[in-house]
Amino acid sequence: MEMIKLRDINKTYPGAVPLHVLKGINLDIAKGELVSIMGASGSGKSTLLNILGILDNYDTGEYILNGQLIRNLSENRAAELRNRLIGFVFQSFNLISYKNAIENVALPLFYQGVSRKKRNLLAMEQLDRMGLADRAHHLPGELSGGQKQRVAIARSLITNPSVILADEPTGALDSRTSADVMEIFRQLNVDAGMTIVIVTHDPKVGEQTNRIIRISDGLIVN
Ligand code: ADP
Ligand code: MG
Repeated sequence: MEMIKLRDINKTYPGAVPLHVLKGINLDIAKGELVSIMGASGSGKSTLLNILGILDNYDTGEYILNGQLIRNLSENRAAELRNRLIGFVFQSFNLISYKNAIENVALPLFYQGVSRKKRNLLAMEQLDRMGLADRAHHLPGELSGGQKQRVAIARSLITNPSVILADEPTGALDSRTSADVMEIFRQLNVDAGMTIVIVTHDPKVGEQTNRIIRISDGLIVN
């Protein structure tokens, strides 16, 4: 069963000189796959990931996520699907600096109206899973880069998403820490069957995924 199905996706950024960034992307990613998307800077990787994450629209083509056509959605509907189906991990962690680890992890549940008690319980479970139970009450500024990214991964998992989308998740980490974070993604994939898509320009990261999807000048190449 496919988790992600893209058919002939085109995307142009308008402007004085319009930029045709995605030029007919066809891609299938099955449930339970761990894949990487690689390509030169400017090749359209983040644009593609933003479309996959329903953070941005495409112009033509078809995107089917978990059996649902993702097209012309209202902002409310897009947000609802995003919250229910997708966990995001970013290069810069995107943690809130004045909230501690457990509060950061629990935040998506706050937006779902989950009670504080239940939020904290579930957030603690995810932190524990990431080996960070003893860091629960520390602020991001008191954590190492690897710990921050593990908090961000815990946050991405707390809504029990169908797919994790990670944009250069190891881009700000040293090679040792980067390997640790990749090991976490691998475990989530193998043990929990999580579908994971990782954008990277690091060949070592790509090698640790089951399939490397290469994008060049707005097209998938093999
Ligand atoms: P990558 O992640 O592979 O480096 P991006 O998808 O971020 O590539 O960008 C692809 C191209 O689109 C680049 O030339 C970039 O400058 C351009 N671009 C990205 N976002 C926008 C935007 N919001 N408006 C206009 N151009 C953009
Ligand atoms: Mg990018």
